[in-house]
Amino acid sequence: MMRVDEAIEIILNTINPIAEIQFVDLFNGGGRILAEDVYSPFDVPPLNNSAMDGYAIISSDTKSASEDNPCCLKIINEIRAGEKSEGVIIQPGFATTIMTGAPLPEGADCIVPFEDAQEEKGILKIKKPIKPFDNVRFAGEDIKKGTLVLPKGTRLDSAEIGLLASVNIHKIPVFRKPKVAIISTGDEIIEPGETKETHKIYNSNAYVIYNEVLKYGGEPHYFGIVADDRENTLNKISQLFDHDIIISSGGVSMGRYDFIPEILSQANVEIKVHKVLMKPGKPVLFGASENKIYFGLPGNPVSVMISFLKFVRPAILKLSGAARISKPVITAKAGENFTKKEGRRFFLRGIYSEKNGELYVNSTGAQGSGILTSMSRANCLIILPEDCERINKDEKVQIELIHHREI
Ligand code: AMP
Ligand code: MG
Repeated sequence: MMRVDEAIEIILNTINPIAEIQFVDLFNGGGRILAEDVYSPFDVPPLNNSAMDGYAIISSDTKSASEDNPCCLKIINEIRAGEKSEGVIIQPGFATTIMTGAPLPEGADCIVPFEDAQEEKGILKIKKPIKPFDNVRFAGEDIKKGTLVLPKGTRLDSAEIGLLASVNIHKIPVFRKPKVAIISTGDEIIEPGETKETHKIYNSNAYVIYNEVLKYGGEPHYFGIVADDRENTLNKISQLFDHDIIISSGGVSMGRYDFIPEILSQANVEIKVHKVLMKPGKPVLFGASENKIYFGLPGNPVSVMISFLKFVRPAILKLSGAARISKPVITAKAGENFTKKEGRRFFLRGIYSEKNGELYVNSTGAQGSGILTSMSRANCLIILPEDCERINKDEKVQIELIHHREI
């Protein structure tokens, strides 16, 4: 049986990113992967400008300003945001009213905010010295002309979309999303909405997988439940190879009706990973056929989520052309003793929180691979390495941040 890292390496080495480029508008860029380096054709902001509503002045005029001896300047103009400042020249002894974002006029080197000055009959009184460049935003201080704004492979979130907009990229080059086919297997599975019989269980895996695929930038397509029947399953899977990825849940363990590995061999899928030294998720399967890939996730709902996070998520990101794939791993103190048998890597569902300036982590409670509530309560995975048998309370342990429900 192989280790988690080996399995991830095999998966990532098998996958070639999708090279097709599409163009999306700024409203539809969220979650997409940038397909080209983007350089700025100009400075952002374009000109030196005011960071405050106030007055543009010459700082040296205020050198000896004080409560008793205010500096008095004559106000000669007003510059609004969106107006040009050309033609306005500030000489010693003069000031202009200026709004936030308006270009700094020639001669002026700082801005006095309205709240730090008094205006009376066209004369401005300033009672303290102002330093050169106070409240001035410099041309190019955010982005310099010709510099790299975002590299190819960046996953676009709100700030990145804002950056693209501010350098006038309104048709964003992105890689095509991977098309992902999803099926559930199992005679015992029925769809939510169907009438329940006590010996059946509702399909949760398909919906979990669908949402995870969406979350990591894939295009999910759901193809229903297939019974534990060789012929039907082979038929169904054979129809799905026009997708970049096929994901099934169930049918990869040791059970008499776990047919997926056998069916995949019939469908000419080369099984490259089957069974990994991990808990939960041990039976996970990964196979490839030409440039299509197949994930046979286990049936148990927590195993589905962990094996998705560990293997399918990086696969989707690599296929999509994403440059950054790993999730943040940090260190916390164990809030309780954690024990396990040597051999497999455990991913306990944990809750980390801060106490007296330190991070502590506790398990969410019962950790069975069918207990999906453990996943819902968690904000991290507690990683217990293969060779570890015990981590005592207050010892350090690695945690992987998985989601932040509260923000
Ligand atoms: P299997 O690996 O096919 O033996 O499935 C293991 C267990 O996972 C089953 O006994 C079910 O309890 C559960 N399971 C399988 N498929 C699903 C599903 N689609 N939704 C929820 N639970 C499932
Ligand atoms: Mg099954």
